[in-house]
Amino acid sequence: MDEDAIKQAQIAAAWEAHNAGPHGYRRQWLIRLLAMQDDKCAYCKEIISISPTGDATLDHQVPLAKAGADAFENCVAACELCNHAKGDLLPGEFALVMLDRRAQVLEGRRKRAKWRGRYSRRHP
Ligand SMILES: [Zn+2]
Repeated sequence: MDEDAIKQAQIAAAWEAHNAGPHGYRRQWLIRLLAMQDDKCAYCKEIISISPTGDATLDHQVPLAKAGADAFENCVAACELCNHAKGDLLPGEFALVMLDRRAQVLEGRRKRAKWRGRYSRRHP
């Protein structure tokens, strides 16, 4: 093997490690979760997607900050707004907050959809 071939192999290995690494496996979970949740946010039930303009995020139900496991069983797919609103709350705590937040979340989503519609018209 010459030096170029060795370098190519190293790059390929690094890329594979990146995809399988700290972020790669979470992306795989998110894809599976979206399929299980019919592409709906676990909290507000809005349709979400993993596309570049989609807002699907991986949410740890018991937050890592509260010693939740970084495991598939502890994760749900949630929209950015819910994930952000939930922060480090436990699912029960967040359910209470959501009663208040749902209207706010939906309002935020309407504004974002409007913005996104404008953006995609400008950048078809
Ligand atoms: Zn949501």
